Amino acid sequence: MDEFEIIRRYFERESSGKNIRIGIGDDGAVLIPSPDRDLISVVDTLVSGIHFPESLAPEDIGYRAVAVNLSDVAAMGARPRWMTLALTLAEFAPVWLDGFARGLFEAADENELALVGGDTTRGNETVISVQIIADVEPGQAMTRAAAEPGDAIYITGTVGDAAAGLSILQSGSPASDDVDYLIARFARPAARVEVGAAISHFAHAAIDLSDGLFADLEKLLAASGVSGSLELADIPLSTYLTNLMDEDDALRFALGGGDDYELCFTANAAADEIGEISARSGVAITPVGQVGEGSGLHCTRNGDEYHYQDAGYRHFH
Ligand code: ADP
Ligand code: MG
Repeated sequence: MDEFEIIRRYFERESSGKNIRIGIGDDGAVLIPSPDRDLISVVDTLVSGIHFPESLAPEDIGYRAVAVNLSDVAAMGARPRWMTLALTLAEFAPVWLDGFARGLFEAADENELALVGGDTTRGNETVISVQIIADVEPGQAMTRAAAEPGDAIYITGTVGDAAAGLSILQSGSPASDDVDYLIARFARPAARVEVGAAISHFAHAAIDLSDGLFADLEKLLAASGVSGSLELADIPLSTYLTNLMDEDDALRFALGGGDDYELCFTANAAADEIGEISARSGVAITPVGQVGEGSGLHCTRNGDEYHYQDAGYRHFH
């Protein structure tokens, strides 16, 4: 099978009605942007053995390659529209490609996202680059740099699950409901696109949690030139996680483990709106701390000062 056959068989699909003048097949895609919207471009590369274990199912690899980019779009408060795919493959294996394409289009279809072009090459290992173009109302994109003293810090969903899932995947624990849930949190991250767009109207700063709550919140605070406090007892942990380990270990995954792809954002006096968005989307949104003057991220646990040491749970970053 050559490159053209792969493109035709696995990636070319009917995608009318998605504001595409020219899609896959020409030298470039021609896209029709909505008037009076800002465009946002994000790209993320996944390297086999570094960003995902080689044993991960091809469906999950395809899904994940799109989802990690959707998470960046969510953190900007934007609407995903078009994507391109640069694929380097060690071999052209039909079963792998079929599964990969199915997972990729599953994540795309959940978000009305169209594949409009790409590049397919042979190389020594599997490398997947997905780029997404999204749009947002002019000037409304959320940034990391807009947190203000007095803001509360919120996070969506629960954290620590994906890193625990990856660790289980690598150690090969026997299946159970808890184990299956945690592995799925790594394999199929749920990008918070709907929540991101809804909070963009009042949230000050936002970031998605790819490297771990502590490291990513530190980035947001540094970009904003402010300090933050984090109360560890308020960090939302899933029962799937706490069923399998004590709270100390769960918190280590939550703070230092990556791959959650939840959102962390700051906002001031928006509790009612946040409650409504949470109810509408079915995604928990939990206050976990406060923004202050100065710099640095300071943790407490049940009110007592807590010195957090990053234990390096990020195997795959
Ligand atoms: P060119 O020679 O102009 O670089 P290619 O032969 O690489 O074009 O690709 C032919 C067409 O197929 C282009 O429209 C390109 O965008 C598209 N394409 C190539 N690889 C992929 C892929 N993995 N997914 C989607 N579209 C692809
Ligand atoms: Mg060309």
